[in-house]
Amino acid sequence: MNITSAQFVMSNSDISKCPTDNKAEYAFIGRSNVGKSSLINMLTNNKSLAKISVKPGKTQLVNHFIINKEWYLVDLPGYGFAKVAKNTKQRFSKLIFSYIESRTTLINLFVLVDCRHEPQNKDVDFMEWLGVNGIPFSIIFTKADKLSKQKLKDNVIAYEKELLTSWEEMPPYFISSASSGLGKDEILNYIEETNKK
Ligand code: GDP
Repeated sequence: MNITSAQFVMSNSDISKCPTDNKAEYAFIGRSNVGKSSLINMLTNNKSLAKISVKPGKTQLVNHFIINKEWYLVDLPGYGFAKVAKNTKQRFSKLIFSYIESRTTLINLFVLVDCRHEPQNKDVDFMEWLGVNGIPFSIIFTKADKLSKQKLKDNVIAYEKELLTSWEEMPPYFISSASSGLGKDEILNYIEETNKK
């Protein structure tokens, strides 16, 4: 799929105000600074569609963009800065959960993780919660240009190992670099394929 048009539609802190026209939705989420804005800009061929953060973790808004006049790309808030809390759900903002639980048009959630880091409890717990709640998701390993091919491979295997302690199989995953454009075609093709179904 080629993205020929990408426009900002709205930002919301109240999920009930999100678009109601039933278009398919693909959302992107990850810890602050994971490279989410850069990835969204890379996918949409737009240098400034999503704002690349200087100070991470500021905004707690759900941002809708309309792509090719056909589907929504949704930029969810980064989740790295919540205070310590008792359970997974409390560690993420209410906004994120209310979005994920209520958007029946959500086809896939892309969970971004920085390929340089070892599996972090916060990400793994979040994926666990997604699995238990039947939310379709896939993983995007970002910033691949920052590692050698071998190190990248090792890190992805380490991630797989961690996830396979509680999962039977790895969710679909992608390797990306906003600098080189790596992963762009695969991610857009995945969106195209799942949107047909
Ligand atoms: P966000 O907070 O998740 O939206 O992250 P940003 O997109 O704002 O990126 C955080 C920082 O990582 C910025 O300094 C980006 O320039 C940098 N960055 C993001 N993606 C990549 C990438 O693929 N490769 C490299 N080398 N740097 C990246």
